[in-house]
Amino acid sequence: MGRDTPYFITLEEAIDITFQRKIEVSTEMIETSESYRRTLSKSIKALTDDPPFDNSSMDGFAVSYKETKNPPNKFKIINIINAGNKVENEINPGQAAKIMTGAPVPKGADSIIPIELCEVDESGQYVVMKEESKPHFIRNKSENFSKGDELLGVGDYLTPEKMSLCASMGHSKVEVFKPLRVAVISTGDELKLPGEELENGEIYESNTYGITGLISSLGHQAIRFSSVVDNLEELRKTLDKASESCDVIITSGGVSMGDRDFVRKIMEDEGHIDFWRIKIRPGSPPLFGHWKNTPIFGLPGNPVSSHVVFRILCAPWFRNLTSSDQPKEHKIIVKLDQDIKTVPGFLTLRRVQLFNGENGITASVKHHQGSGNITSIALGQALTLLGPSHKGAKGDYCEVLIL
Ligand code: AMP
Ligand code: MG
Repeated sequence: MGRDTPYFITLEEAIDITFQRKIEVSTEMIETSESYRRTLSKSIKALTDDPPFDNSSMDGFAVSYKETKNPPNKFKIINIINAGNKVENEINPGQAAKIMTGAPVPKGADSIIPIELCEVDESGQYVVMKEESKPHFIRNKSENFSKGDELLGVGDYLTPEKMSLCASMGHSKVEVFKPLRVAVISTGDELKLPGEELENGEIYESNTYGITGLISSLGHQAIRFSSVVDNLEELRKTLDKASESCDVIITSGGVSMGDRDFVRKIMEDEGHIDFWRIKIRPGSPPLFGHWKNTPIFGLPGNPVSSHVVFRILCAPWFRNLTSSDQPKEHKIIVKLDQDIKTVPGFLTLRRVQLFNGENGITASVKHHQGSGNITSIALGQALTLLGPSHKGAKGDYCEVLIL
């Protein structure tokens, strides 16, 4: 690490530095049905009007509204129009068409009377309306959108609802950013895979599981590497392999001040560090740099810290690559239900539960806040964003990031 390498900086400064290291993200056409959690790289225009024709929003009878005044009124049923029938029917004065939801409204009709308000006579040929209707229950052509409307743009993150919108616009395929291949590497002699027998001094490796989930929720592909023991040679081999086969590297563990924090050590001696340490709690040890030109985020090993740092440092970087603020993070203002310990000069991220009470939404700490306690974030509902000068006093307002 050079003399001028930024050290112990604010989160904003850290984010600025990472944003200067953009990498190219290519694009691809994929099936709309496969596009969940992907980000559009091209805007999408409607290929049709929606609805494409006036249609009924009820099962009932299509009539002329003015003929339903002065009830009761009797109409001759001239046909039945089902969803999928062509737009070609017509009714004349004194006539009604039986119509199903989604079926095209016949010419001459401007009102649908729901079936439950109608009485068909014994012959089955006439329908009597006992009440005056209203000119409604018709979904008008283009009331949702018109052909050519650009409803989604570059950077839009495809939720299930947006996938359906793409399909409604007539697109069986969409152009999206290609997932980046993200190497996820845990480090530590003490780590064992879940499912294996723990020996004395060992713990289950859990960080790469959560980080993998965070990466896929951003639409990228996590490649989990086998855990690396605390050994420079092994670490070098793994980082080399990761930089050859992946676009980004994320490590966990080994970036603090300890004798065996080899990620920091190898990055100092053989890689390039753009900054080390951030003024946040928990999660102050991360580093960012590159290994053989591949960007690398060195996350802390403590389970809560690795999640928190990914959410507030790595996720903005991934979003920025597609010039997008999506998938959107939800932040709300809440009232503190109790004093919450802050660290002066640091951004404090406590894991809190939210309650909807008389005075709006309040936040309380319900779990032990150790950075090794994954329960606090797994069962917590939000992370406090208590700024460097916030006292965290009961009754104060504070912004939280919804988990
Ligand atoms: P380190 O940053 O390597 O000093 O690790 C800090 C703490 O996090 C230690 O208690 C480690 O045992 C723990 N830790 C490191 N990596 C992981 C991991 N992948 N999964 C769970 N805990 C970890
Ligand atoms: Mg370690």
